Amino acid sequence: MNLNKVDIDWDKLGFDAVETRSMFIATCSIDGEWTGGSLMPYGKIELSPAAGVLNYGQGVFEGTKAFHTSKDNIVLFRIDRNAKRMAWSTKRMCIPQMDPDFFIQAVMETVKDNLDYVPPYGKGSMYIRPIVWGTAPALGVRAVAEYTFIVFVSPVGSYFKGGVKPLNLKVETNYHRAAPRGIGNAKAIGNYSASLYPLTMAKKEGFDEVIYLDSVDGERVEELGSANLFICKDGIIKTPKLSGSILDGVTRDSVCRIASDILGIQVEETDIYLRDMLEADEVFCTGTAVIVTPVGRITYEGQVHEFAHGGIGPITNKCKETLTALQRQEINDPFGWLHSVIKKG
Ligand SMILES: *Cc1c(COP(=O)(O)O)cnc(C)c1O
Repeated sequence: MNLNKVDIDWDKLGFDAVETRSMFIATCSIDGEWTGGSLMPYGKIELSPAAGVLNYGQGVFEGTKAFHTSKDNIVLFRIDRNAKRMAWSTKRMCIPQMDPDFFIQAVMETVKDNLDYVPPYGKGSMYIRPIVWGTAPALGVRAVAEYTFIVFVSPVGSYFKGGVKPLNLKVETNYHRAAPRGIGNAKAIGNYSASLYPLTMAKKEGFDEVIYLDSVDGERVEELGSANLFICKDGIIKTPKLSGSILDGVTRDSVCRIASDILGIQVEETDIYLRDMLEADEVFCTGTAVIVTPVGRITYEGQVHEFAHGGIGPITNKCKETLTALQRQEINDPFGWLHSVIKKG
């Protein structure tokens, strides 16, 4: 196994899908178990117009990354957490519940076959997208008979255009992302269709993303369309507690653990009211795609609130630097979060 790379301008990578060599594919019937599967050339797939996913949105996905580290290893980050979440999401959407070991083995196979597309150390990462959906036809509403699981990968750089700069957000008061006891805590494809319209409107007004409020009384902040939210006040880090309508982010949990166990910062998972956020010293968001991204400004009812002078605050910066260093093996991994795909050093 060598770590030669394909011919890509790694410095120009953004967050668009780049075609790679292969993808993993497996199928399963509704009362079957996920086994087998194989690699096939990256490419288009056929679908019945009556497929469950097209008509009723029966599908879930995951997002994780592989890194080329400073020790010349290729590693996955906390893949067991994604595997567990996939098991929960598939169950919630009446897709045959995916066994975590099957999930991890499929991800490993896909990354191994596309190793030369993993950006070199320090140049980004390989984004991994496992996705599963109902393929069999349905006209009446029901969980369909047959499911397809695919894992594809793409080398990526920075999620937001123009690299890391503090985000300009608005508090969304017209729309909710998810409701308690709905599907907001599963990684269901439909959650993103709910947040697309508010996101598009906000972008037209010049914002990068929106902050959603809880759908019970609209007093507490929940998360962004695709990232979790944190605030810092007087040296304490807080993030909204998992209420049922918030996605349990791997990065969210990682930042909580890094802050408390490595950085010695007090962390609270709690209710965060709008005014707590607007009066915070620092605000940042987390996700596999955005890593740790500072929030520079938040607009609420026409008023602009600025955080860390519109820049990146010291606590945000420490969390971001420590997480990135851990993923790249620049510091020790005291938690055992890294899972080797290829081990050299
Ligand atoms: C995926 C996702 C996140 C981030 O989760 P990570 O596991 O950190 O990538 C946050 N919010 C929503 C709604 C998501 O779908």
